[in-house]
Order: sequence, then C-alpha cells, then structure tokens
Amino acid sequence: MSDVTAHGFVGETTTVLQGALQREVAYTVSLKLQPPPQNENYTIEKISDIDSETGRKVYSKIEEEVDLIESSEEFRICILENVGDNGLSITDKCQFYSHWGIMQRIDIYIPVKIEVSKMSLNTLEDYVGGEVSALVELIDPPEDINTIKGPKGRGRNGANFVRNLVYKANGGDNCPSPYAPREFRERCRGLQDDVDKIQAIILDERRRRFQTHPENPNAVVIPIRSLEDRVDENSNQVKIGYTRILLHFPPIAGNNYRLKIRLITANGQEAKIKDKSVPDLYPLYLQTPTINIWKRIKIEMVALQGDINYEDINWKVLKSAFADAFIEVEEAAQEKRYTITFQEWKRYLSEVVYRNWRKSEWNEYSKLDNIAAQLVDLHNYSFPQHHNNIPGSERLTPPDDNNSNPNRTTWTFLENIAKRIFREKLGTAAYNRLKNPRQGHDLGVCVLIYRPPFRRSGVGGLSFFNKMFYIVLGKNTEGTFAHEFGHALFLNHGPTCFIKNADIPFTTRCEEEGSEGPYWDEHDSEDMMTCIMSYNTDNVEWHYCGLCLLKIRLYDVRNMIRGQDSTLRRTLYGRKPKVYWVEEGDKEQKVEGSEPIIEPWLYMHDSTPERLMIGEELRLVALYPPEGVLNDDNIDYHKDLTRYDRGSWVSTNERVGRVRVRRQGDIWVAKIRITGRGRTEIKYRIRRDPNDFIESEPLVLEVS
Ligand SMILES: [Zn+2]
Ligand SMILES: [Zn+2]
Ligand SMILES: [Zn+2]
Repeated sequence: MSDVTAHGFVGETTTVLQGALQREVAYTVSLKLQPPPQNENYTIEKISDIDSETGRKVYSKIEEEVDLIESSEEFRICILENVGDNGLSITDKCQFYSHWGIMQRIDIYIPVKIEVSKMSLNTLEDYVGGEVSALVELIDPPEDINTIKGPKGRGRNGANFVRNLVYKANGGDNCPSPYAPREFRERCRGLQDDVDKIQAIILDERRRRFQTHPENPNAVVIPIRSLEDRVDENSNQVKIGYTRILLHFPPIAGNNYRLKIRLITANGQEAKIKDKSVPDLYPLYLQTPTINIWKRIKIEMVALQGDINYEDINWKVLKSAFADAFIEVEEAAQEKRYTITFQEWKRYLSEVVYRNWRKSEWNEYSKLDNIAAQLVDLHNYSFPQHHNNIPGSERLTPPDDNNSNPNRTTWTFLENIAKRIFREKLGTAAYNRLKNPRQGHDLGVCVLIYRPPFRRSGVGGLSFFNKMFYIVLGKNTEGTFAHEFGHALFLNHGPTCFIKNADIPFTTRCEEEGSEGPYWDEHDSEDMMTCIMSYNTDNVEWHYCGLCLLKIRLYDVRNMIRGQDSTLRRTLYGRKPKVYWVEEGDKEQKVEGSEPIIEPWLYMHDSTPERLMIGEELRLVALYPPEGVLNDDNIDYHKDLTRYDRGSWVSTNERVGRVRVRRQGDIWVAKIRITGRGRTEIKYRIRRDPNDFIESEPLVLEVS
C-alpha cells in the first residue's frame, strides 16, 4: 500500500493513482444540527416513542447537537403557527397570512453544518480546504398515509382523499407548486415532478444558491472549504473541513425530506466515503432519516368553570384530530389552566351579565340566604335557574335567542364573560396583542369551558375570533372543541341544515347567521357529513375531512379550486347529480301508541310531470348522491346543490321556462316558471373546466 498524502495526487487522472487513492483515502461526513435557541419559533424533534393508545409517534425536542447521518429515527421540524381568524374582511387563510406577513414568520431557515474528515489507513489526516465537495440530493419519501386516523368504514375518508390527491407510493408527494401558497411555490415541485426545487431549498450561509450538478439538476454541489482544528484519539491536532448551509423547506405541514450525500473531488471524481460506525464499510452515499414538517399551535390558556376538571377533556382525542394534519396542539401550561371558583363566577355574572340587566332580580338572588340554590345552579349550569322561593329568579336565565335584544342571550353573555376572563388572566397588554396576527403570534388560543346555560340549551360553543372561543361541557366536548378550534383556524362549515321530511332527505345551503353552510367546495364532497365542521356529528366518528386537513396543512385550497389545475375540481363532486321536481304537501306520520300526525312533506319525482300549464311553477332540486355515511340523525343524506358556486341549472329550451334560484327564509329554492309551450330538458351541471362539466340526466318537461 502506498502512502497517499500528497494533495497533488487528488487531481491526477491516472487510473493507477486514482485506484490507489480510492483504496487509501476516505472521508467521513457529518450533518450537524443544533437545537434552535429558546427564542426561535421552531423546534427540532426526534421520535422517542409510539403511543400505545393512539398508535401515533411521540416526538421529543433534541437537547443537544445531533448528527443526522448517524441517526436512524425520524425527525420533525415543528414550526409555531399561532394564527387565528380575526373575523374581519380577509376570510381566505392564505390571503390572510400573506396580508399579515405570516408567511415570512413561519418560513424558517435551519442551519446545518456539513463536516468532512479525511482518513488514511484509519487515521485522521489534515483536510485541505476545497479538496472535496458534497453533492447533496433531495429526496421526498412517500407520506405516511397511516398517520391520518380518520374514520374507517364506508365512504371516502381523509386518508383516501389525500391518497387520491397528492400521495405517491414511491414518494414525490410533497405539496406541489400549484397547491402551495404563492410565497412558497418557487420551492415546490411541479405537478409532474417528484422532488422539490433543491436550489431554492439548500442555501449557503448567506441564503445564496449553490450550483447544481451538471448531470443531476436535483443535486447541488457544496464545496467544503472552511477548516477547523480537531483533536483525534491520540491527541493529535488535525484539520477537518466544513461548510455551513441553511435548509429552507417550504413550511407546509406534511412535507417530508431526506438528504442524500455523495462526495466528489475537485475534478469531479467520486470520493470515497467511510462509514463512521461500521469499520471497513464504504457506502456509495449517505442518507439522512426522514425529516417531517409539522406545525405547532399553542393553547394559551384554559379557564374552567367551577368544578370542571382539566381532565374532563380527553386531550389525546383532540390532539389526535389535529395530528391528522401534522399539527401538534400544545396543551396549556400547568399554570395557565385556571379554575374559576364559585365566588369568582358570581363576580363575573354580577359584573358582566347583571350589571345593566335584571339587576334587582340578581340582587335578590345573590343574597347569602340563597347560597344553597346558587351552589346547585352554578354547579350544574353557567347561569342562575328558576327557584320558586326566589322571586324573579326565572328572569335571570337568559334565552338562547332574543330577537328584540340579540345582545341579551346566552351566546353573547358567555362571550362577554369569556373575554373578561381572558383579559384578566392574560393581562390587558397581551389580550390586546392577541388580536394582532403579527404581534400576537407568540400567543396561542384561549378557551373557556362552561357548564350549559340551562337544561336543553342549544349552546355548544362559539368561536368569536382572535383565537378565542368557548365551549360547553357536554356529550362530545372534544368534538365541539375541535369544531370551534377549526373556526379559529379558518375552517368553515360543512352541512348545518338537514331536510328530513322528504322522500329523499337532503342537506342544503343554509344562511342562518352563525350557521352558514355548507361551504360546498371547502370539504370533501364524499366525506363531509361527519367532518367535524358539520352539525349533528356528536355520535359519529367525527374527524376533519381530507380538504379541511389540507387547509390546516397550509395548502392553498382556494387556488386549488380556482386555479388552472383541475385535479381538486375533479376530485370533488365527481358523480352525477340527479334532478327531481318537488311537490310540497303533507304526509301522515304514524306515531307509536298514539294518533298519527300530519307533517309537511316534500314529494320528489324524476318522471315528466303530467298536464303542465303555462304560468305554473315547479320546484326543483339537484341531488348529489349520498356518501354512504350516517350522521346523528341516522340518515345518509343527499346534497341539494341548488346553491353551489360551480353548479348551474340548464334548460335546453328557455321559451318553455328557465330555472331561477331564490332565497326563501334561510335556504335557497330553485324553481322553473312555465312561460311557453314545447319541450325542454332540465339538467344540473357541475363545472370542472371552462369546457368540461359533469351533468345530470335530463328531467323532461312538456307543455302542450
Ligand atoms: Zn413526501
Ligand atoms: Zn360552527
Ligand atoms: Zn371538512
């Protein structure tokens, strides 16, 4: 064996010398990652366990420097994203983030140090600046679809939705450019590509790009030029080479990466890599474990009325729903879980609710003589209840609805108490900061958990924007929590209104204030009945539907619906709707053990109506087939698409009549008025592209 130490040899092209060199000189490589400083808005975490109950990976923050090359376990980068809807003019999540400069805030640069040591005959030797370069390639491993725990059973679930839309079994399934927020598109893969744009992701210390390799556009060449002294096992000082780089991954939750590294010499030859732990192993390349992008959303504080325990909420269930979207919900710190005692509660009622309303009744009720009644009431409810022996007490329970004074309802009183408590606990400065998406970015969501206002009250919870919401402890507290939390994170309603008294029960767009929904194109058409953003989901396997998941992952869902690429438009409402004409009438309903009752009923017909007359009006519905999923009503509802952005009614002969959609109360009704003789075909059409649509079979109308 020859002693190859002269650096001149490295550049030699003689095969003999090259062969000798490759036998004799090898390099070890480290990719070193430091735990970010305390004030950084991200953490680096490593898998430390599997939760036996949920089957989910448990991560813990790295406490000291790690070498990615020596790790076999997955990592995650968890980026703080405490951004809530402020309820003002910008309703689109990505647009809101852009407007408030949040995209920059969450767009982190992770410093990594590449170290190269030179070995000859198994001893360290001085590295000479620039003698090798690292050839770094980006790999996008397949997303772990099993992470999405959504419901099993019939119908499409979140995992299937993501599988259809983005997942690729062989990897290359990170958020593609057309689905990504504008700010990150440049870094994301094209729809047909398998890997993100490495030149925009791996940067030098000063955020500049590296050259790509002439033969591999997916690899950057990183010269290893800087030198550092190291002391080897025999206390000899040697020089190692290093280069600091920055990883600038698009901050989209669910993206994942690996780095693959080779070394090349100054003349472009492959340099030999030596494994650090296995002797005499010279791998062709080195690879890091998978690095996953996650987001962290903090719960800033939880206030609990009276004897409600923090543990009355199953936090694992709640956190699990968000983990489906690679969101880590960070529970409120121990010292920020506040119990609002009975005495404090009385004070809030007195100061917030009864200060200007029913004050004399309250003064009577709150007397010490009535302490027993007060204790019972405020143990079970959030407001005083009726007691025969306390005059006026029945007037102290606010109603859920009050048309003459909408500010004096359970809903608004609870909102006002919640605001007061949040302000007192946070302090006025932080409370005001909470409302500013930028200045309040370090503050998480504030939650108040109440007893119900009274028995059978309809109040379940309310998100009143700026990262604040309250919920009522009840049958499905975790679901209510996830629903209101979802609103705070820019999610809109799925179905909220259900028409049961019909031959074919259906859900339809409802405009009732606070209950507007469904936002048809903001949920998976095949999985929205049990999406937690829908109503009547207390007794089902609720979850966020696939589209909600993508939205909280920071996919630009609006652009996916409106943009050039039609994949999402084809994924939603891919089946044919069916048109019926509807007869509004009554129906006798049998009731077990008593007289039958007469109820209004919608009779639905798909055959040509007989003896149509000019001037007559016919109600129509366009029903999209059901999901095969039951909600709390135990019904597998159809969807009436009458009021749908991408839908339209067609009448092939408008002389006979055309379909108009008008608001009737809180819903929308489609009707055709017959204006002439002849034959027309009524169809419902769902637009996918300017010249491409899916259309129902025609309903034929004939007027003679
Ligand atoms: Zn991937
Ligand atoms: Zn809601
Ligand atoms: Zn949804």
